[in-house]
Amino acid sequence: MKKRIYIDMDNTLCDYRKAYLAARKREPETHYPQSQYGFFANLEPLPQAIAAYHHLAKKFEVYILTAPSYLNPLCYTEKRVWIERHLGLEATQHLIICKRKGLLKGDFLIDDLPYPEFEGTQLLFGKAPYENWGQVLDFLEIA
Ligand SMILES: [Mg+2]
Repeated sequence: MKKRIYIDMDNTLCDYRKAYLAARKREPETHYPQSQYGFFANLEPLPQAIAAYHHLAKKFEVYILTAPSYLNPLCYTEKRVWIERHLGLEATQHLIICKRKGLLKGDFLIDDLPYPEFEGTQLLFGKAPYENWGQVLDFLEIA
């Protein structure tokens, strides 16, 4: 049986930080740019993220597990739009939107934030030893 991996979106697959900082600089009076139309749909993929997803999807049972920006109802749809645009239609069937990620059962969670309730192995993305997708793939190659 394939091992199951959950992959976060914001600051793991998508460059949320860059878009947020750019929007705050452009419109300092807008305190929650992530609440604006198009914010989530237009995030740029992080380097190597798209190739890494497709690579992992061959070897593992992969799900995209993202917590919603619940004050922005559009984000639920825009995350789905982003996935189809960057990962393809098939990948949209692997989307799970859930605030409490520890409820999901699986072997690995790749996320920039810790979820202590998750029972599998967490790879804290963006921090050593998983600073980028190359390092994540190196680890999972032997998993
Ligand atoms: Mg995140």
